[in-house]
Amino acid sequence: MQLTVENMPWKKYRRLASRPSDIGLQYNRSCPMCCDASSSALSSASPSAPVSAAPEPPPDKTLLSIDDFQFYEDLDGKNRVVHRIVACGGCGFVYTNPCYTPEGFARLFEKAGKSYGHSEGRCQEQAAWLQQHVLDIESVLDIGCGSGAFLKALPRGVQRYGIDIDSGSIDYADEENTGIHFSLGDFSSAFSPHGANHNAIPDVAVITLFHVLEHLPDPKKTLVNLRAQCRDNASLVVEVPVIDRAAAEQNKDIVGFYTIQHLSHFSKASLHAMLACSGWQVTFSEDIRDYNGYRVLAVAGGAVSETVSNPARQRDMAATHDYLAQWRNNVTQVDGTLASLYASLATETNIIIWGAGQHTEYLCHLSRIFNNTRRFIIVDSDPLKQGTAFHGIAVLAPDAIPQQLWCTGKEPIVISSFGGQPQIVQQLLQRGVAPSRIISLYTKPNVY
Ligand SMILES: [Zn+2]
Repeated sequence: MQLTVENMPWKKYRRLASRPSDIGLQYNRSCPMCCDASSSALSSASPSAPVSAAPEPPPDKTLLSIDDFQFYEDLDGKNRVVHRIVACGGCGFVYTNPCYTPEGFARLFEKAGKSYGHSEGRCQEQAAWLQQHVLDIESVLDIGCGSGAFLKALPRGVQRYGIDIDSGSIDYADEENTGIHFSLGDFSSAFSPHGANHNAIPDVAVITLFHVLEHLPDPKKTLVNLRAQCRDNASLVVEVPVIDRAAAEQNKDIVGFYTIQHLSHFSKASLHAMLACSGWQVTFSEDIRDYNGYRVLAVAGGAVSETVSNPARQRDMAATHDYLAQWRNNVTQVDGTLASLYASLATETNIIIWGAGQHTEYLCHLSRIFNNTRRFIIVDSDPLKQGTAFHGIAVLAPDAIPQQLWCTGKEPIVISSFGGQPQIVQQLLQRGVAPSRIISLYTKPNVY
């Protein structure tokens, strides 16, 4: 049905009761840094028989917890999780617990869509950096290659391999005749010599992991497996966001450093420690300008038992508290912007929200955006989200909204996105929306 200004499906917010899913969405896990898989498997097999006489470490400390977090569209209340960030009582490593099960991950992130996008030009910078910092780049394996933009930015003479878990990205990457070997795989299990889908890594000079390690349920295992299978003088490039830079670089976004997409939340010190005990020696490291990225170059070596030193651990904890204090301030600021917007409007004025991603669920938990009797529609340019409902509110394509509503409507349009905000403002202006109706929640957002 063609929508007109008169028949727009304005709806009030209505949150369904949380219901158990037919599959296990999450599981409680041991610390990915200090508990190796073999000991946790043993202890879970025989909980009454302790495997060592070592004293129990202190319990993990909860840093942030949001209950009943919904992943995108309404699925009968069956896609809700606890989003909890903890610091290990034993070693201080910060990780998401509970963690998603593989089936849970597939279900929950089915509608995530373009959330993994990154800035244009980033791949050129990464390719130039690699050529500048690594002597031998005759062959490169990019793990988590997405649509292959980084590999395509490398010289054609380089033998290039890419692997990604997302079939859509791999299909797209493979379309052109680039001479790059793309493969589809879950790199946690694909590279495990014990995994069912054992798939040895190609013999390459360089392995790259740009913003991948923080997404993996067992990053140490992946690093150990890569070290076990790579050539002796292989180089490894890892880039992750770090808490050391979160307060400076991610001080505005209400999603921010502890996003639902990341399972480990590294510091510079914890990344170095994990690499060392996985057999990788860091030879160079640097902060990437303009966004939260910390890039290290490591070479294959022997595994050394390394833990984060006490002073480093204290610095990490201080950075964590600084960041969380800023994050809370920012939540207050965003909520204040929405509260003054609502106070300035007649009570019957409807609201358009642009953005059906995780940012809107964060707003739902942290602000008063839905805490009233107003009616809403949600707009999103991601086809995966269009036609769904989000807490009872219809999610529509921008083109489904009558042009008259964009041009002459009175409803304010709240942009619910951090990284996407500048592009959304541009799109709204192009559609003829008056600037006074566009409500931006952030000043100068920066994005990876
Ligand atoms: Zn630990």
